[in-house]
Amino acid sequence: WFREDRLPHIYCTGCGNGTVINCTLAAVEEMGWKRDETVFVSGIGCSSRAPGYILADSLHTTHGRALAFATGVKMARPEFNVVVFTGDGDLAAIGGNHFIHACRRNVDMTVVCMNNHIYGMTGGQGSPTTPPGAISSTTPYGASEPAFDLAELAIAAGANHVARWTSYHVKELTKAVAVGMQTPGLSFIEVRTQCPTNYGRHNKLRTVSAMVEYIRSHAMLVEKYNRLTAEGKPIPEGTFTVGELVRRNRPAMGVRR
Ligand code: SF4
Repeated sequence: WFREDRLPHIYCTGCGNGTVINCTLAAVEEMGWKRDETVFVSGIGCSSRAPGYILADSLHTTHGRALAFATGVKMARPEFNVVVFTGDGDLAAIGGNHFIHACRRNVDMTVVCMNNHIYGMTGGQGSPTTPPGAISSTTPYGASEPAFDLAELAIAAGANHVARWTSYHVKELTKAVAVGMQTPGLSFIEVRTQCPTNYGRHNKLRTVSAMVEYIRSHAMLVEKYNRLTAEGKPIPEGTFTVGELVRRNRPAMGVRR
């Protein structure tokens, strides 16, 4: 599925996006999807370069509009498998409106969001998922706004399948994407991932492994979360839950006939 004629790629050394693309393509292979019935859609940003490296039909669209284009593809050609690559800025800032309404409509597609908590390609600006207090090029004294929890937003808006992993969890992530592809309706997979050139630089995490370890150490496995909440214990601040967070069967749009 890789387009070798597009190599070398433009990603920075140590970027997490390649891992996410690899996991997604492994899931596509597991599904046995064919190239002529699969479409990859993206907006703008480092994450959205992904379809350019894949040997299949793709739409590289305008900033934040990937889900609107993908909805159009699915409505016109419901027999197509539609996969969207997006990032936290593309999806939740410029494309925030499309995000909630695609989830509400529960459009039959798989949305993979590379959430590195920052605008990478455009210069390290704070995004809607930049954690409070984090330094970015637009928050030099620390982000003062609360951050979106993208997975919880997708659940609240109505997506049928929602999962969250990190670039550290390669096997789990691949499986989650495959489950999403098998689930009718909108499947949203958030991947917390590292951005060594912007996120790392501004947060003084000097190496890629330090960044991945930071992300992993802030992830709380679902079982642990369930145990803590069942025991009435508080969830440590700054942690987030990984795993399959929702799988349900709301009516969906664009399911193949
Ligand atoms: Fe990856 Fe960040 Fe570099 Fe973009 S700026 S390619 S997200 S490391």
